[in-house]
Amino acid sequence: MSDPPRSEGPFAARDFAEAPFLVTWELTRACALHCRHCRAAAIPDRNPGELSTAEAHRLLEQFASLRPHPPFIVLTGGDATERPDLSSIIERSISLGLTTDVAPSVTPRLTEETIAAWSRQGVHTVSISLDGPTAETHDRFRGVPGTFAASVRAARAIVEHGLQLQVNTSICPETVGGLEAMANLVAEIGARRWEVFFVIGTGRARELAALSADETEAALTWLARHAPSAPYRLTTVAAPQYRRVREQLGPSRAPSGVPVIKEGRGFAFVDHMGNVAPNGYLPLAAGNVRSEPFSEIYRFSPLFRVLRDARRLRGRCGRCSYREVCGGSRARAYADTGDILAEDPACPFQPEMMET
Ligand code: SF4
Repeated sequence: MSDPPRSEGPFAARDFAEAPFLVTWELTRACALHCRHCRAAAIPDRNPGELSTAEAHRLLEQFASLRPHPPFIVLTGGDATERPDLSSIIERSISLGLTTDVAPSVTPRLTEETIAAWSRQGVHTVSISLDGPTAETHDRFRGVPGTFAASVRAARAIVEHGLQLQVNTSICPETVGGLEAMANLVAEIGARRWEVFFVIGTGRARELAALSADETEAALTWLARHAPSAPYRLTTVAAPQYRRVREQLGPSRAPSGVPVIKEGRGFAFVDHMGNVAPNGYLPLAAGNVRSEPFSEIYRFSPLFRVLRDARRLRGRCGRCSYREVCGGSRARAYADTGDILAEDPACPFQPEMMET
């Protein structure tokens, strides 16, 4: 996560070594879709080993106990709506004072009634994936005809029911040509946030081509030029060098002192079995909430600790003056090289040597 999801206010006095800003929780890996870029390599049926309702409630209590700044929670999957107890999990989360978002898949389960119920319950944001600006581009990428129309319909319903809408877009060679048209569509449907994900080769996405470093740089430069005039907040995933690109474009586009949220540093991922990882795209479990408190795993596991120490980075990221505010995508470094501390191959920047 290279950029924060909300305003600067919530960052005041937060210590990302103590608690994450954001937790994405994969409630289930079940999903009726079969997207080609799926991180989770989702499966049709629920795994009997998923956290139970009681375990889910206990985990929420752990999140809420991370005072004074409990994390924001994103409930995702697979498809979160595959869990019949989703409503109870949302209700418990909100009753504990946790800001709660839902990231469902667009399937027949995502009805207007469901969206209206989430609005009544007090869900903060609902995110919808749109990877192309037309039915032709999106449906080809998703592999299911009609998904574009259903996604736009769901997005409009989210806005109409007073929920904040986030649009997620996966960028790879197949979709990058639609970036400008996507930006216009995101504005037209009234999204509050556009999250642009630079595809990493994990899960089923191993079969997809990724952008080259120069193509990634060009896309980030376009986004950085576009962001100041956009009617939504624009953030990137798996491209923390977006911050460097903005700084290099000049003060008017430089980030305003908001800390970077990334793997293990302000961000954590919990999978459907309770394994805690620094990121859903970095499938290394640092511990499991069935046997250890979440806070202990986040604060003290060697994996999370090393990811919070930019001095440990190697290659160009290790000698880069932007390593504290960027540090490269650890998930991509791991997917491409097997080394979580290697340089990010999607960044073409050639840093000078720096004092350590
Ligand atoms: S070399 Fe690494 S730390 Fe420097 S800007 Fe590129 S990705 Fe970020």
